[in-house]
Amino acid sequence: MSAATTIAEVLQHSDPKTARRAVAARVDGRVVDLSSPAPAEGQVEPVLPGDPEALDILRHSTAHIMAEAVRALFPGVKVAIGPAIDNGFYYDFEYQRAFTPEDLPAIEEKMAEIIKANLPFERREVDRDQARQSFAEGGEDYKVELIDELDPEAQVSTYTQGEFTDLCRGPHLPSTGRVGAFKLLSVAGAYWRGDERNTMLSRIYGTAFFDRKELKRHLNFLAEAKKRDHRKLGKQLDLFSFHEELGAGMVVWHPKGMILRNIIEDFERKEHARRGYQQVSGPQLLRRELWEKSGHFDHYRENMYFTEIEESAYGIKPMNCLAHMLIYKSKVRSYRDLPLRYFELGLVHRHEKSGVLHGLTRVRAFTQDDAHILCTPDQVADEIKAVMDFITEVMDIFGFDYTMELSTRPAKSIGSDQDWERATAALTAALELSGRDYDINEGDGAFYGPKIDVKLQDALMRHWQCATIQCDFTLPERFDLTFVDSDGERKRPVMLHRVVLGSIERFIGVLIEQYAGAFPLWLAPEQVRVLTVTERADQWAEQVNQALRDAEIRSSADLRNEKLGAKVREAQLMKIPYMLVLGDKEVAQSKVTPRLRSGKNLDAMTIDEFIAYLAPLRQPGGERKNQA
Ligand SMILES: [Zn+2]
Ligand SMILES: [Zn+2]
Repeated sequence: MSAATTIAEVLQHSDPKTARRAVAARVDGRVVDLSSPAPAEGQVEPVLPGDPEALDILRHSTAHIMAEAVRALFPGVKVAIGPAIDNGFYYDFEYQRAFTPEDLPAIEEKMAEIIKANLPFERREVDRDQARQSFAEGGEDYKVELIDELDPEAQVSTYTQGEFTDLCRGPHLPSTGRVGAFKLLSVAGAYWRGDERNTMLSRIYGTAFFDRKELKRHLNFLAEAKKRDHRKLGKQLDLFSFHEELGAGMVVWHPKGMILRNIIEDFERKEHARRGYQQVSGPQLLRRELWEKSGHFDHYRENMYFTEIEESAYGIKPMNCLAHMLIYKSKVRSYRDLPLRYFELGLVHRHEKSGVLHGLTRVRAFTQDDAHILCTPDQVADEIKAVMDFITEVMDIFGFDYTMELSTRPAKSIGSDQDWERATAALTAALELSGRDYDINEGDGAFYGPKIDVKLQDALMRHWQCATIQCDFTLPERFDLTFVDSDGERKRPVMLHRVVLGSIERFIGVLIEQYAGAFPLWLAPEQVRVLTVTERADQWAEQVNQALRDAEIRSSADLRNEKLGAKVREAQLMKIPYMLVLGDKEVAQSKVTPRLRSGKNLDAMTIDEFIAYLAPLRQPGGERKNQA
């Protein structure tokens, strides 16, 4: 084989038909350009459009094409970074003004020209100083900053297509013509490196696919997701708000949102009590020394907020573990006391960069349904199994399917190798016992122990982190937690950290999108609205409303002197499950005629009959059980 042979030629030689479809190649597990030199030895496999890496390569290549188009249309623009992301790509630019949706058609048109020209993406391995100088001369300050931060040993490479050269590791498509279908989607402001102290850049989001049909399917999905956007529905349904003047990432709950929260929290209290958990509560501020002892100060400090009281430093809790350990330590524990399961609806504060904040799903203050189980090493397996059963039952009530992942020891961690091995083995055993498939997330565990992450899958097949189970041998050691065993010896308990819904805020955001705001009866902040046709029904409406409230049904009466059509439309906009329309007939018969939010009408019935009809549907998950 001559030195000039490329990977494309190797593939062409072995299977010309497949080689034509290849977008890149895998050599010894590494994905490289088709134009790179063939390796002296090692397996060369094509990366084809259906492969997991292929879409990222396509989308990142489309980001370069977009940057070329933007540079051609807006002289003086500086380019920052343009990665592939889930479902698409973006590129950040610095320009004299922010880009707007009105700019997108012209950029798309220019991109289409670049794609049509089928320009090759050419990789060059370059000298660092020369690359730095050339980007500096072009005014590309962000690229210069990136080069300065590269590992001094790293090979610097650039990719050029047409008029545009980018600092990039690659790999890329062989040429621009391989982009089958793309669409620019939106613009947003984004701080350089997601840090609000830096320059605000103008970000353009887009997506790309190998063929038009897939793009169309994705655009339909986006339209559906937009309709369900919890930020929009949260406003429409008057559930919560965010306020710039109050601070980013902090939720303000309105009365209806608070009803929803209380329903979920009451449900949680009941379900935890039923399973032998005891509710506890710890303070927001704990002395810094305690966070040093736990390792949070060394390993989690960037995510924490600190304050001072009478010259001593305090940390605002990002987790609830520490107070729970202090409760455990407040007296001598015997093996007979274990397991102890402490449950807290704990408000925690964590620093998230402003760039990643998103409605209820990424906030800086949130409430966890957190618990810590302290048990003997022998009890670990049963306790993990019980938590997994708990999660399954809860997900079923809310109507979610879910997937599981095992996250192992991260680079920054505390504890001995032996403890990590024991903890990982315990979680693995529980996963195996569950009989469900799971993925392994290397290095993504908490700093004090490995964890099982549960990701629920919503109606649009999106995945959301909810439950986690962490197995921890280390914090009991650091806090010197002990129990007196049956042989009279003092021994170390194991601590399991676990949440079921995770962040209540995020979970509510997901619920809003799952149901598109049309909550099942048990969760609906307003379950029934009584509507009068004329004022002749007012008295009966008030009586009906009160009877429903007496039966603990969340009801209100709309007695305004408005057209019935307007009242119905408003109730429908609020997605209230049942309307009771009261006219002369209902008054005469002392009955109600229920109307579902779907528009379906039920037969007229007495109030008692209606209350009895609702009873099974008002139970958690009631409507689902009723359908089954
Ligand atoms: Zn690139
Ligand atoms: Zn914890």
